[in-house]
Amino acid sequence: GEQQPPLHILFFPFLAPGHLIPIADMAALFAARGIRCTILTTTVNAAIIRSTVDHANDASHGTGCPAINISVVPFPDIGGLPPGVENGMALKSDVDRERFFEAAQPFERFLVDNCPDAVVSDSFWHWSADAAAEHGVPRLAFLGTSMLARSCTESMLRNNPLEAAPDDLDALVLLPGLPHRVQLRRSQMMIDPAKRPDHWALFQSINAADQRSFGEVFNSFHALEPDYVEHYQRALGRRAWLVGPVALASKDMAGRGTDALSPDANSCLRWLDTKPAGSVVYVSFGTLTSSSPAEMRELARGLALSGVDFVWVIGAATPAPDSSEWMPGGFAELMARGDRGFIIRGWAPQLLILDHPAVGGFLTHCGWNSTLEAVSAGVPMVTWPRYADQLHNEQLAVEVLRVGVSVTGGKDYASSGVVMGEAIAESIVRLMGNSDEGDAIREKARELCMKARCAVENGGSSYNDVGSLMDELMARRTAYRNAVKV
Ligand code: UDP
Repeated sequence: GEQQPPLHILFFPFLAPGHLIPIADMAALFAARGIRCTILTTTVNAAIIRSTVDHANDASHGTGCPAINISVVPFPDIGGLPPGVENGMALKSDVDRERFFEAAQPFERFLVDNCPDAVVSDSFWHWSADAAAEHGVPRLAFLGTSMLARSCTESMLRNNPLEAAPDDLDALVLLPGLPHRVQLRRSQMMIDPAKRPDHWALFQSINAADQRSFGEVFNSFHALEPDYVEHYQRALGRRAWLVGPVALASKDMAGRGTDALSPDANSCLRWLDTKPAGSVVYVSFGTLTSSSPAEMRELARGLALSGVDFVWVIGAATPAPDSSEWMPGGFAELMARGDRGFIIRGWAPQLLILDHPAVGGFLTHCGWNSTLEAVSAGVPMVTWPRYADQLHNEQLAVEVLRVGVSVTGGKDYASSGVVMGEAIAESIVRLMGNSDEGDAIREKARELCMKARCAVENGGSSYNDVGSLMDELMARRTAYRNAVKV
């Protein structure tokens, strides 16, 4: 028959690094499967993913893979933000956040001008479902979280268990209808209709928009959370594809880890080269979670007390408080020794660090990308979630998968109090020290790492999900074109 032109997919990521990065990885992965990809974003946000896209295009040069383009649009004038600031790292107020949702105009223009075969837009851009439908383009919602976390939100929205729950913010609330017993404190619930009716309405809109879309794409894989895949697809009847871990799938061609490294990053990797296998704990809280001086002081005390060597990323999120504000006595001397710890100020090459044989644990805020990257590298976690889906990602890692140790033990330190250095040290030693518990956790982490690799390899579950999604989109295009012809 007639040679079909490749599918063309438009990616429309939310404007925060934790959403842009997996979208760029996914584009690299899709391009390697023969899909033409365009990523629509703004100037500053394009810079965050530029090197991933360049690497992917370089690597595919001459292989016949279609290129990935970044289509750069000006940031909408929402006012109130410092110049040059264009993403969620800088969004402090809900007003700013809401105005991000008004960036509809360039999106619609792109749909009209380019007629892509599908759009993958962030679940947060709920209005894009109707915009795409209006122009006859199937929309896939991108979920930047685990299927477990998504199922928890869905349970919240459908059952509203807070309605009958006590007002006491410390009260444990059960989320009904899930494969596991999942409960959270009322203060930790991502959306409380009594406290924030606007958030409740927003998440209802998001969930409804995802349901009337062509489907949902998850950066996860079947063997990671099979009970939730079963729950989401079978019990809830949602159309969802699991195509991750996208960082792993795109690593070979995109080489996010091989980006030009800062001098700090380079010397960090050389420092790790001097350390025994599995002896170092990597500490990072992602791109949005900032720590108070009190939290940093306790963390520094904890790292010192643990006796475990560490790499600590400070200020990847907001500029860190000055060390005079947080540094505990003796810490400067400890750092001056040079062999106990390495501090990276700014952006860390996280994938390379997690892949380094010296790294044996990851003290993480449980952002979904970090959690999945730890799983993909076979590195067990010390979990310290603060809010939103991080709490559910911790539950997945600690309670379901048993590849982590919790620092907080479910207590809500984000609302009150500070985790003490002693508790931090104890958790690190529990994970990294010689014990049956540590051995069991490391064994589980190794198993999961193998499963993650299998998922993205030729014939694996995520590989096949990409294939079946492509088939469906191709069939839809053909049917749509025939219908238009008639
Ligand atoms: N990241 C990185 N270097 C840093 C900080 C973050 O490479 O110094 C990457 C990390 O590998 C992950 C993403 O940024 O892919 C952060 O996403 P995550 O979901 O873990 O957390 P968020 O920042 O969204 O809270």
